[in-house]
Amino acid sequence: MMSTDDQDRDPIAPVTVDLARLPELLTALRLPTIARLWAQLAERSDREGWPAARFLATLLELELAERYQRRIQRHLQEAELPVGKSLTTFDFASVPTVNMSQINALAAGGSWLDKGANILAFGPPGVGKSHLSAALGRALVEKGYRVLYTRTTDLVQRLQAARRDLLLESLMDKLDKYDLLILDDISYVRKDQAETSVLFELISARYERRSLFITANKPFGQWDEIFPDKAMTVAAIDRLVHHAVILEINTESYRRKTAVSRAPGSSSTSKTKKSTQDDSDE
Ligand code: ADP
Ligand code: MG
Repeated sequence: MMSTDDQDRDPIAPVTVDLARLPELLTALRLPTIARLWAQLAERSDREGWPAARFLATLLELELAERYQRRIQRHLQEAELPVGKSLTTFDFASVPTVNMSQINALAAGGSWLDKGANILAFGPPGVGKSHLSAALGRALVEKGYRVLYTRTTDLVQRLQAARRDLLLESLMDKLDKYDLLILDDISYVRKDQAETSVLFELISARYERRSLFITANKPFGQWDEIFPDKAMTVAAIDRLVHHAVILEINTESYRRKTAVSRAPGSSSTSKTKKSTQDDSDE
C-alpha cells in the first residue's frame, strides 16, 4: 500500500516543534519520569556532548525502571498485607519445623506458582502462621508477582455477597489475576453461619492453575465444620494437597513467649527470644 512518495517523505516535515509543549506531551504519553528528569539530563548531555541516541536511551531506561517500581508499589497496596511482617523480621530459629532455605526458595516464586501449587500452614494460635504467609506474600510482590492477603472469613463473605448479586463470576475473575491468594485462618469459617460452598468453588477454580497459601489452626480432621458436607470437604482437601507444601508449626506461641521474656523479673533482657546456640546475627 505504501507508495514511494510516502517512503521518501520526511516524517518530521509536518511537525511543528514547540519546546513549551514538552511537559504536556510527556503527560499525554504518561512519561512522568522523563517529565521530571529530562531537563537536568539534557543539560548534562549538552555539556558532555552525548550522542542523541544515548540521551534518548538513558531517559527511556529511567522511565522503565521507575515504572517497574511504581507497579510494585501498586501491587503492594492492593495485596493488603499486614504491615511489618517480612521474612527479615521472622525469627526462623524459634520455629524448628520451618526450614528457612525452603521458605526462601518459595519466596523466589517460579515453578510452584506457575503450576498453581499451594502452601498449607497448620499450628495453634500465635506461632507465626499469619506472619509467615504475609512475609512470603510481600517477598513475592517484590519479585513482581501479584498477591492478595485476606482473612478467609472476609473473603467468604465477599464471595457470598457476589453470588447473591450474580457477580460471583466477575469476582472470581478478579481474584484470578493474583498469582497467590493468602487465605488466613480458614478454620474460622463456619458452615452453619452461611453457605460456604463458594469457598469450595474458589479452591476448585484455582486448582492446578493459581496458588493458595492457607493457614489453619485445625487439622484436616476438623475441616468438616467448614464445608457444607463431607464429600465437599474431602474434595477440597484433595485438591489442596495434590500439589502442596505442608508446614506444621507446633511450637510454643511466639506471642506468649515474647510476652514472658519481656515480663518484669524475666531472666531475659532482650525483647526477643532468649539466645540459643549460635544464632548471634540480628
Ligand atoms: P498465628 O497466625 O500463627 O496465630 P502470628 O503470625 O499472628 O501467629 O504471630 C503472632 C505474633 O508473633 C505476631 O506479631 C508475629 O509477628 C509474631 N511472631 C510469631 N512468630 C514469629 C517469629 N518466628 N518471628 C518473629 N515474629 C513472630
Ligand atoms: Mg494468624
